[in-house]
Amino acid sequence: MEVSRTFEAPASGYAVAEIKAEGLVRIVNADGGQVGDLFAFVAEKRSEYASAPHTRSITRRLFPSEGEFIFSSERRPMLQLVTDSSPGRHDTLYAACDPKRYEMLGALPDHRTCATNLEEAMAVFGGLGMPTPQPFNLFMEVHVSESGGLEVTPSTAAPGDFVLFKAIEDVILVLSACPMDVYEISSGGLSALRIELLERK
Ligand SMILES: [Zn+2]
Repeated sequence: MEVSRTFEAPASGYAVAEIKAEGLVRIVNADGGQVGDLFAFVAEKRSEYASAPHTRSITRRLFPSEGEFIFSSERRPMLQLVTDSSPGRHDTLYAACDPKRYEMLGALPDHRTCATNLEEAMAVFGGLGMPTPQPFNLFMEVHVSESGGLEVTPSTAAPGDFVLFKAIEDVILVLSACPMDVYEISSGGLSALRIELLERK
């Protein structure tokens, strides 16, 4: 397997990539410890998107594990999680950070956000055209207590850890290197993530 193309999401920024059906794509935690909000849209019908709530209800898990699928808002498989080299902790419960979130936390008004990263990324496709979908928060470690409490601890993903997906159909992927720095959800400071398209040799 060889990397045919690379798209870098710089710290607090984003990357966008179009993946063909059957294509393999790796989301790489370049320096480790960085949380990445992953969004995906059906290329031919962008109103259909990778849906965390639909996926949870089908897989009956907080996040699909190796071999399982990410399902669309129309309950069709969009991506298959093939391999996960990270500790395997990802979140599907926390909404993407957005301007209101940072305002509530007292951050500066121009703080970057995953929601605006997504909007900027989708501008080249004619705009997002919908509210921000619930993202798949890769490498984000959210713990659910017996009583239903949620606790977030800093990501323990190591440098070079990755999640490998196979596209089931043509998809547009948007990856936001989450700029959250008010709470420590990423560890070791904010850093870059990479989307790598793989080619079978
Ligand atoms: Zn974020």
